[in-house]
Amino acid sequence: MECPYCGAEDSRVVHTTRSEGGSIRRRRECKSCGGRFNTFERTELITPMLIKHDGNREEFKRDKLIHAIRMACAKRPVPASEINCLADDIEHTLQQMGCEEVPSRMVGDMVVRGLRDMDTIAYVRYSLIYLQVNNLEGVLSEIDRLMMLNSSN
Ligand SMILES: [Zn+2]
Repeated sequence: MECPYCGAEDSRVVHTTRSEGGSIRRRRECKSCGGRFNTFERTELITPMLIKHDGNREEFKRDKLIHAIRMACAKRPVPASEINCLADDIEHTLQQMGCEEVPSRMVGDMVVRGLRDMDTIAYVRYSLIYLQVNNLEGVLSEIDRLMMLNSSN
């Protein structure tokens, strides 16, 4: 880290603070001139791996999520910007959790909650298709579960 006063390369860290947003602020002191300055570093946010129904792990991909939401919103009056916002929210929430892996179901639930407020048809489509419900019993238990989600938040 180059000293802004004399340009020397060597400095020592005198103080480190970590902000809630994940960035790190360091107070440094130049070893040549003794000048003090601050540096900010953004820490890499980790997005957890998704644990699929079959137990396999899958990387979270924002594009894939957006594609799935778009499919559910096909021919519905949902602006692309809202779909992107929902995907951003979900990615951000996952990163804030600080876990190494989470059930993929959790992502599905977040999409369902988001779509519920956007468009009823898209909400039902996503619930039935992407949560892998393929029989009436599954549909009914899924509806029960969604009702539970509804009442719990
Ligand atoms: Zn210096």
